[in-house]
Amino acid sequence: MIDNVVVAPPVRAEVVGKEVESPFAIAQRQFDQAVQYLNHYPKGILAKLRVPERELIVNFPVRMDNGDIQMFTGYRVQHCTVRGPGKGGIRFHPDVTLDEVRALAMWMTWKTAVVGIPYGGAKGGVVCDPKQMSIQEIERLTRRYTTEISIIIGPESDIPAPDVNTNPQTMAWLMDTYSMNVGHTVPAVVTGKPLELGGSVGRHEATARGCQFTIRRAARHLGLDLTQATAVIQGYGNAGSIAARLLAEDGVRIVAVSDSKGGIYNPKGLDPVAVLRWKQETGSVVGYDDADTVTNAELLELPCDILVPAALENQLTAHNAPRIRARIIGEAANGPTTPEADAILYDRGIFVIPDILANAGGVTVSYFEWVQDLQYLFWDEAEVNRRLEQVMNRAFDEVIALAQKHKVNNRIAAYILAIDRVARATMLRGIWP
Ligand code: NAD
Repeated sequence: MIDNVVVAPPVRAEVVGKEVESPFAIAQRQFDQAVQYLNHYPKGILAKLRVPERELIVNFPVRMDNGDIQMFTGYRVQHCTVRGPGKGGIRFHPDVTLDEVRALAMWMTWKTAVVGIPYGGAKGGVVCDPKQMSIQEIERLTRRYTTEISIIIGPESDIPAPDVNTNPQTMAWLMDTYSMNVGHTVPAVVTGKPLELGGSVGRHEATARGCQFTIRRAARHLGLDLTQATAVIQGYGNAGSIAARLLAEDGVRIVAVSDSKGGIYNPKGLDPVAVLRWKQETGSVVGYDDADTVTNAELLELPCDILVPAALENQLTAHNAPRIRARIIGEAANGPTTPEADAILYDRGIFVIPDILANAGGVTVSYFEWVQDLQYLFWDEAEVNRRLEQVMNRAFDEVIALAQKHKVNNRIAAYILAIDRVARATMLRGIWP
């Protein structure tokens, strides 16, 4: 614990009758665990990194289709911009809170540092329910929110991207609004754009592909033959469904997958492309032919070699960690494992590839998109994937080396690597004035 730091008390949320720790409290706890191994830095430098640099709260009106004017609240938090511009997605969701955005911004700082790309960490969100809004209302909300946060975003200061319930179209509106306000086209203000507006090939698959590269590396490290391995995937959206397809291409047998409605299991193997087609046609993986139905809780405890949580936070907890039967956990989702579960999984010898490493492929290809936009020179997909593999492999090896050196789990090792990089950069820049 770092002393002399004033932060808002952790917010506690009620979830299914149980009190759970808020995401930012968890993020700070993870930070505190790692900085025990970085005590050569002045306390004040570490204290600086434990809190966000800047938090913007905006309350703004949007004209709804029926003529009413409705007020919305949005956030943009820049946790750290010492190593480069802030980077992080924008989330549209009714449950968005400042506390959650803070945690996500802090995780982005460590993620960009782990893979060694020249960015800091940021995140944004608007409290809204896009499923209850028309496309026109979402466009007006996006444009007004962009204008409100335009005082702190920009291609050299803070570069948003898609997150929950935002997509390439949202990013196109953001880019257009920012460009209209400054008077010329600025593609590099945002990543995850449509290809027609300066998006990058390979961005759509990048998170899952990065996850695939780290799982390959972990399998090699553990002597696991992927062509004999089985995998279970929780969540069948962008990250999960593409990870399933890519792992199947490596010869892995996908035995179970799930979405918010439930899971399906066939120990003989599922065809990930056919399952995706079924989900697109029916709205869920559930009901797919030739598979048993399982609950999401059961799915996590199925026997398998590789478990990929690709849905939500807090899925692997002290409650189910003793019964997880995977050898490798590749965290495509952000924050799927609680610190208590981490300790149990480590003691049981389960190899966790932590989120800030396993799902960093998305932000890495976002970085490639920004570099291509700034150069007005675009790469082909083979070039994007080749560079991504290089970045992911290097980061994986650095994390594993630190885990072995300090005899800590891979998450703490990833945090040590990341915090060390950011703390060193802070020391080199010095404290102004
Ligand atoms: P998505 O919305 O495309 O997919 C999420 C999936 O999870 C959906 O299939 C949904 O039905 C399922 N789901 C929701 N609740 C569930 C539950 N209780 N049990 C099982 N499944 C459930 O989102 P995504 O982009 O694939 O993101 C998934 C996770 O990966 C998030 O944690 C996100 O922050 C993380 N992530 C995504 C990216 C990216 O580039 N897409 C990058 C980094 C991290």
